[in-house]
Amino acid sequence: MTRQRVALVTGAGNGIGRASALALADRSHRVAVTDIDEAAAQRTVHAITEAGGSAVAIALDVTDDTSRRAAVSRCVSELGGLDLLVNCAGVLRDARIEKLEDSLFESMLEVNLIGPLALIHTALPHLRAAGTASVVNVASRAWLGTFGSTAYSGAKGGLVGASRSLALELAPDGITVNCVAPGFIETDMTSTLPPRIRERILAAIPIGRPGHPADVAEAVVFFASNGYCTGQTLLICGGRGIGRPIAEAS
Ligand code: NAD
Repeated sequence: MTRQRVALVTGAGNGIGRASALALADRSHRVAVTDIDEAAAQRTVHAITEAGGSAVAIALDVTDDTSRRAAVSRCVSELGGLDLLVNCAGVLRDARIEKLEDSLFESMLEVNLIGPLALIHTALPHLRAAGTASVVNVASRAWLGTFGSTAYSGAKGGLVGASRSLALELAPDGITVNCVAPGFIETDMTSTLPPRIRERILAAIPIGRPGHPADVAEAVVFFASNGYCTGQTLLICGGRGIGRPIAEAS
């Protein structure tokens, strides 16, 4: 009998991470549902087990080395290995460059770039041991450039570049490394945007609606299951990455 694949998903208490954990559990993965907010992780586990899946909740702050090591260790001991790492935890706080304090810049890099890369480092011996494994990093369409978003875009752009380099380095080990780059997705992260900004963003989405967490989760599942696709970044943004529509079709 083949062993069920084990996925560790960060930021899986809410939004895109939660939807990814649910989608992976639905595709027969055993899931380590991790989040800095342990109660939120527990809620995701409850939803997975209610649907007949298998999951454990693990508290994990991706910016803390002790926390990263403990979470990976628990995942391996309680679920029997680690085949897939989904780096989804992220925080969006930003300011125009004149107001961009060093502390804000550093915190954006810590959560959105350094934490995910350090977690790959911690997980690597187990991913290698799996024989074939995958890393999916949740970047953002913002890496292409978003007004007033230097710190967040810089961190996410760093994640895209690092993922391409890691894909080269880890291909001989049978490990794929890819990114999903969501556009505007309805989650807690985007719920606090002022209405006028939200309207402007929606007007720039060719498909004409915000994305849902499940739209992104399906791309995570694709990268998790395709062993011949690596070093890629898939935009899930309703066409916004193509460019701003300037005229309606007649
Ligand atoms: P969300 O706020 O709904 O969920 C983020 C989760 O990350 C939360 O559960 C939070 O507790 C957790 N988290 C925050 N800091 C953490 C830390 N230090 N360690 C561990 N967990 C932590 O946000 P979301 O919209 O689901 O975002 C998920 C990912 O998608 C993020 O990386 C975000 O940058 C990216 N993203 C989101 C959008 C969007 O429009 N929502 C667009 C592009 C990219």
